[in-house]
Amino acid sequence: MKILVTGGLGYIGSHTCVELLENGNDVVVLDNLSNSKIEVKDNIYAITGKMIQFYQGDMLDKDVIEDIFKQHKIDAVIHFAGLKAVGESVKEPLLYYRNNLDSTLNLLEVMRKYDCKNLVFSSSATVYGNQESPRYVETMERKTPSSPYGKTKAMIEDILEDIYASDPAWKIFILRYFNPIGAHEKGLIGEDPNGIPNNLMPYILKVASNELECLTIFGRDYDTPDGTCIRDYIHVVDLAKAHVKALEKSFAVSPNVYTYNLGSGKGVSVSEIVTTFERVNGVKLNYQYGPRRSGDLPKMFADATKAFAELNWKAEKTIEDMCRDAWNFKLGQK
Ligand code: NAD
Ligand code: UDP
Repeated sequence: MKILVTGGLGYIGSHTCVELLENGNDVVVLDNLSNSKIEVKDNIYAITGKMIQFYQGDMLDKDVIEDIFKQHKIDAVIHFAGLKAVGESVKEPLLYYRNNLDSTLNLLEVMRKYDCKNLVFSSSATVYGNQESPRYVETMERKTPSSPYGKTKAMIEDILEDIYASDPAWKIFILRYFNPIGAHEKGLIGEDPNGIPNNLMPYILKVASNELECLTIFGRDYDTPDGTCIRDYIHVVDLAKAHVKALEKSFAVSPNVYTYNLGSGKGVSVSEIVTTFERVNGVKLNYQYGPRRSGDLPKMFADATKAFAELNWKAEKTIEDMCRDAWNFKLGQK
């Protein structure tokens, strides 16, 4: 199959390109490099021995997308491209609404024109908003996400539902990621944001490598066993494999909108991540406790049974693997 991967040089996209290539697909990538580096293309080749076809371009320009569909018979699209920094989205909502919504609308219009109606979309656990129970299930009614970023994901989910309702030829897979961390075991691709990271693992990596002085653990007075927040961390390679499963299923099932949580199903605290990172990597992390971060939920994790039942997918890798592989990638960057 020939698959268009938007945002394919980014963190999750690059790992998914590896899995797609290793499963015999042809991969075309469109990315504007706003949050990724061109070297990733060669690193994907170094891992797989196979080339992606890369187009540098912005999805806000519909012609850029259309040119790809003119040149290639695309069988399905995995749509990762988007801006994803929660805090930035609060400061720059228009940037987020424009980029994430328009890029998706352009893509959908071109897909419709070229009769390509198999789509896998990167959504997020953030679309659930604040639920009563910490175990998030696909059947829960969504509550309003706390950030403009999260709202773009919820809006796109609604758009996809409407498109299917208007034209039931679409096969749409909405994948709601929990907390992806880790890196490919070869250490050639991973997550390496510029500047001061917002997310836990990239911050830990910069503290471990002495680029930042000290990790602040946000809150130790939550109602959790060690007082720190609980999340569902998932190895990015497991996450990437789920995309291949979704894609394969999209060629086998009847048209519909299928929504899946992608998480391990287990909650892990911030303190557990810190101590596991120290233990498996033999590195001492400088950290302190600080106040709660505004907007953080105390505890959330996925009910991942639907993905197992319908995609035959479950997270295989451990927190130890995530911490080791993330650090291995970081060491290769230095
Ligand atoms: P990323 O920033 O590493 O990758 C996104 C890629 O999209 C980047 O390479 C960027 O250059 C590209 N891009 C952005 N806007 C574009 C545009 N207008 N045209 C072309 N390319 C564009 O992010 P990621 O962590 O790999 O996330 C991928 C997707 O998964 C995003 O949609 C994100 O919102 C979603 N997601 C990520 C997480 C997470 O924790 N990483 C969690 C839930 C959902
Ligand atoms: N966190 C932290 N210090 C940091 C960054 C994050 O204590 O510098 C905590 C945060 O409060 C949350 C968890 O780590 O409980 C995961 O945060 P992240 O931003 O990685 O993902 P989120 O769950 O917010 O999407």
